[in-house]
Amino acid sequence: MKTAVLTHADCLGHVTPEGHPERVARLEHILHALEPLDLQRVTAPLAADDDLLRIHPERYIREIRDSRPTEGFRQIDGDTFMSPGSVDAAYRAAGAVVRAVDMVLGGEAPNAFCAIRPPGHHAERETAMGFCLFGNAALAAKHALDHHGLDRIAVVDFDVHHGNGTQDLLWDEARALVITSQQMPLWPGSGRPDETGAHDTILNIPLAPGTGGAEMRAAYEAQAFPRLRAFKPELIIISAGFDAHQDDPLANLNWSTDDFAWITAQLCRIADELCGGRIVSTLEGGYDLNALAEATRAHVEELMKAAR
Ligand SMILES: [Zn+2]
Repeated sequence: MKTAVLTHADCLGHVTPEGHPERVARLEHILHALEPLDLQRVTAPLAADDDLLRIHPERYIREIRDSRPTEGFRQIDGDTFMSPGSVDAAYRAAGAVVRAVDMVLGGEAPNAFCAIRPPGHHAERETAMGFCLFGNAALAAKHALDHHGLDRIAVVDFDVHHGNGTQDLLWDEARALVITSQQMPLWPGSGRPDETGAHDTILNIPLAPGTGGAEMRAAYEAQAFPRLRAFKPELIIISAGFDAHQDDPLANLNWSTDDFAWITAQLCRIADELCGGRIVSTLEGGYDLNALAEATRAHVEELMKAAR
């Protein structure tokens, strides 16, 4: 069975103002880089509001829908904008992760990558921020737990920014282990080690500016992987941001493309040990177009190797 890649042209219809780092070209570069690969290509459905209600209150979902401008842009946060296509893009992004969970848990794909935007890990329960509208990774987690009846899932977030939204949405969720590494200090400022959740199921791993591959690997081997193995998740969800790359303009970590391949391979190995290899990965950040495309391809190629 082949690795599934879920995407939709609507995700290219979410347009941001000139010069904004979270731009249409990001996904175009990724899709181009994935083109030669032998993948199971899946058109992402629109999420149902019942799906979104697992993580956001109804008034927030309505507010996002009502914020859609008929032309131009509407700014809904310091750095989050909506264009006429943003609502459809956000519903496709959320729909992609739901479908990806269904495919992986239903045996239709061994693992899956959602090539979507807008990203999701900064969206809190009632707050859109950091380029994010709906909390895609947390939605995948809740869907796996509540719809499929899993008892334990894990989210691993290696985006360079703290996954404050995922942390907020899963703060009270004892069935979800959330492991997130982030450059500190860096926007949004949260993600200290003492932020551990209502049930001690959140592990924050701050990394100092300049942290390279060797130190990142040591941190994951010492902290993240033992927690994962102890928790024994039945599905691993990855918030795959590629902005810890040394070429990224928004942050100051020094990971190479090989480091993204390494962390993916390790997570695939752990998923093999614990949960039949089941991984659902979803795109978060990554703002140097070439580094983003190269690292995403390396990530997907590792998922493909694990799928064999
Ligand atoms: Zn990021």
